[in-house]
Amino acid sequence: MKKLIEGLHRFQTNYFDTHKDLFEELSHGQQPRVLFITCSDSRIDPNLITQANIGELFVIRNAGNIIPPFGATNGGEGASIEYAITALDIEQIIVCGHSHCGAMKGLLKMSKLADKMPLVYEWLKQAEATRRLIIENYSHVPEEDLLNITIAENVLTQLENLNTYPIIRSRLHQGRLSLHGWIYSIESGEILTYDPVVHDFVDVESRKNDPEYLYNLHPSCSVTKSIGCKIYPMVKDETPSELTTENINIHLPKSNRLSKEQAERIYRGSSS
Ligand SMILES: [Zn+2]
Repeated sequence: MKKLIEGLHRFQTNYFDTHKDLFEELSHGQQPRVLFITCSDSRIDPNLITQANIGELFVIRNAGNIIPPFGATNGGEGASIEYAITALDIEQIIVCGHSHCGAMKGLLKMSKLADKMPLVYEWLKQAEATRRLIIENYSHVPEEDLLNITIAENVLTQLENLNTYPIIRSRLHQGRLSLHGWIYSIESGEILTYDPVVHDFVDVESRKNDPEYLYNLHPSCSVTKSIGCKIYPMVKDETPSELTTENINIHLPKSNRLSKEQAERIYRGSSS
């Protein structure tokens, strides 16, 4: 605690004094352009890794960077999302998972958690879609690779959960919002981003385009090419080399099939 109080003094006498204009401006209101959703893990600092200034990121943090689907809880996540989009008019949302995530380790060993940490157990039930997907599709993957795959799949699950919020769905439809899935590597400082065209995590600079959204983020190819483990295809290869309006539906489960018009709109992006 002593260290924190000393830090407070240093902040007030050094940093604050040399940035008085910024703090004066911020006292009149905030205008963050990005909603940054990440884990509570102490090794992640959103402002540090993005070098964003104070006031530039609106942040939601919890164990496992989980966004419960709309209506699943009355927790703070939904309220913060609603505020970010409706009141602050934020147009970019980043869900940022990270390597060595303790919450994702817990998700892979749920049965051991119930007694020891009942509240964590209850919370991680919100990520059941991730857990089920891993159990049913990656049973052949060695344990040492499973955590990285879970971290990656969980980011995609949370993007899909975001899509269940009426305000998000509406803004995506208007082309006023884009979603991004990131994985931060604690050991290398690198960020990978999900590219919905190639269906994999890629370097931030090499993400091919920026379509506002795709419905199905779990198509046939693996999400693990770039995150330090082998490729484990979930189903037999039926991936066309490029998504087109003709073949986009190949990737979608039957319950999620789109009309030709919808597929075209999604493929082009909502702006057109
Ligand atoms: Zn974590």
